[in-house]
Amino acid sequence: MERRKFLKNSGLGSAAILGGTLIGACKEQKKEIGVTTAKITKGPIVIATWDVPNATAKAFGILDGNGTSLDAVEQGVMMEEADVSNQSVGKGGRPDRDGNVTLDACIMDKDSRCGAVVYLENIVHAVSVARKVMEETPHVMLAGAGAKQFALEMGFPEEDLLTDASREEWLEWKKTSQYKPVINIENHDTIGMLAIDSNGDIAGACTTSGMAYKMGGRIGDSPIIGAGLFVDNEIGGATATGMGEEVVRTVGSFLIVELMRQGKSPQEACEEGVRRIIAKKENYQDIQIGFIAINKAGETGGYCIHPGFSYRQYSGKGHVNTPAKSFIEA
Ligand code: ASP
Repeated sequence: MERRKFLKNSGLGSAAILGGTLIGACKEQKKEIGVTTAKITKGPIVIATWDVPNATAKAFGILDGNGTSLDAVEQGVMMEEADVSNQSVGKGGRPDRDGNVTLDACIMDKDSRCGAVVYLENIVHAVSVARKVMEETPHVMLAGAGAKQFALEMGFPEEDLLTDASREEWLEWKKTSQYKPVINIENHDTIGMLAIDSNGDIAGACTTSGMAYKMGGRIGDSPIIGAGLFVDNEIGGATATGMGEEVVRTVGSFLIVELMRQGKSPQEACEEGVRRIIAKKENYQDIQIGFIAINKAGETGGYCIHPGFSYRQYSGKGHVNTPAKSFIEA
């Protein structure tokens, strides 16, 4: 049914028919690749990068009312997108070096459906536009002017995202205009969120204004499915924050989910994800990367390069912020 709808709407008939054979073959293999060894616990849970209690509380409220993990992660990260005091996400995000606030976001659900927007301007809720891309188009990702046009067509309001606080900081930065594509642990904090609902289904979302004072047109890991976020409902999910270029190079979130598939715990998988980056990066001391992960059983983990990264978790056991273990010890 879904596939027929896709063919009808997309006009990509022959490519999809060709893909149909592959899809059929994959379904045959599905039982073998989807191994869940961990014991499934009852009850919803949400985790997010950084200490974002408003976001996790919003998401848990939805889960607790028997809402879906997809609704929970979308509405959870929307809290940060709307919060102008968070200068790395949504409205109030730090601009690129030319003074333009450009947003990147993605979302992925239990059925491996996904949507993303990159270089989106003047729309606060990039994650919701990403969800619309997933639900209303035959595509996964829309960029720049096309993404904005789509958002406006979907009824999203247009507004200036550059707040006075972020403008003033940017003007100050411009005095020296030192373009150093070296991210430090102060100037970035993407919100990545993963949730399991009361049906046991997993979804994830990731949203950011990206690296402060980045080059115009630069895209990081956050809207790239597999890099900034990945979910496989049979195994678990992972999401990233930090210097996106390095996460893209190792397809970090996909790697972590695959490591969990092979039997690693979320904590072990996040640690291996960070180690892979360090192994390929000479000056790894200059960057921060943080990963969080959750498995089908509701076990969680987080790991980073430098101390200072933490993740918020809300479940029936409580609402806690956990400082992640780090490769470089405090
Ligand atoms: N991952 C984001 C990016 O590279 C930055 C961040 O987490 O702050 O765009």
